[in-house]
Amino acid sequence: MKHSLFLLLTLCFFSVHSLAAQQTKRHKLSATAQSMAKQGFVNVLDYDSTIRVSLMYSRPDNFTGRVLYTDLREAYLHPLAAKALAQAQKELKRRHPNLSLIIYDAGRPMSVQQKMWNVVKGTSKNIYVSNPANGGGLHNYGFAVDISICNEHGDSIPMGTVVDYLGKMAHPELEPTYLRQGKITKQAVENRQLLREVMAVGGFKVLRTEWWHFNLKTRKQVKAEKRPYIK
Ligand SMILES: [Zn+2]
Repeated sequence: MKHSLFLLLTLCFFSVHSLAAQQTKRHKLSATAQSMAKQGFVNVLDYDSTIRVSLMYSRPDNFTGRVLYTDLREAYLHPLAAKALAQAQKELKRRHPNLSLIIYDAGRPMSVQQKMWNVVKGTSKNIYVSNPANGGGLHNYGFAVDISICNEHGDSIPMGTVVDYLGKMAHPELEPTYLRQGKITKQAVENRQLLREVMAVGGFKVLRTEWWHFNLKTRKQVKAEKRPYIK
């Protein structure tokens, strides 16, 4: 009995110690993350530290071809969305312990939305970006996430197109057509289905035109509930 108590105390010490180490590591939050935290948004990793984060707008290889996040590396969401995402990750882990959700974009400040809009304004790409003048999109309220599934090495599993692919191959409702035509593999369709199923456990719904974009709320709800956008 004494022995097991000692063991328990040792375990407690180490888990507290590693948690403290983790928090110290995360203390160097970017200025944008700190600003979002002040506005009441939360770091997804505080709800589930196993979720992977790799923000596509912090690199130039996104559809705009520009770095839009100059300092942000963290995924911030409204607390309700972060909680829902943790539920989705738990469901994925229950089904496939080696797989994980990987976030490519989460809460997006309206100032970044404006930068994105300025890049696509007047081009054919403008249909893919919400206009800040019209209140922006659900990313700006912390209720949307761009997400895929990755393996234990952090490599995303096949989904038929890359994230942020601009075109009909990214439309979930057209999957049967592209599967028949041999343009998307059965495996990719099943992977997308898996993503939709685990995200649905958290209450997220996929966007009609982007297999990677999920919303927890509708724009109508956000408006009716007078949710503030991320400054
Ligand atoms: Zn999105």
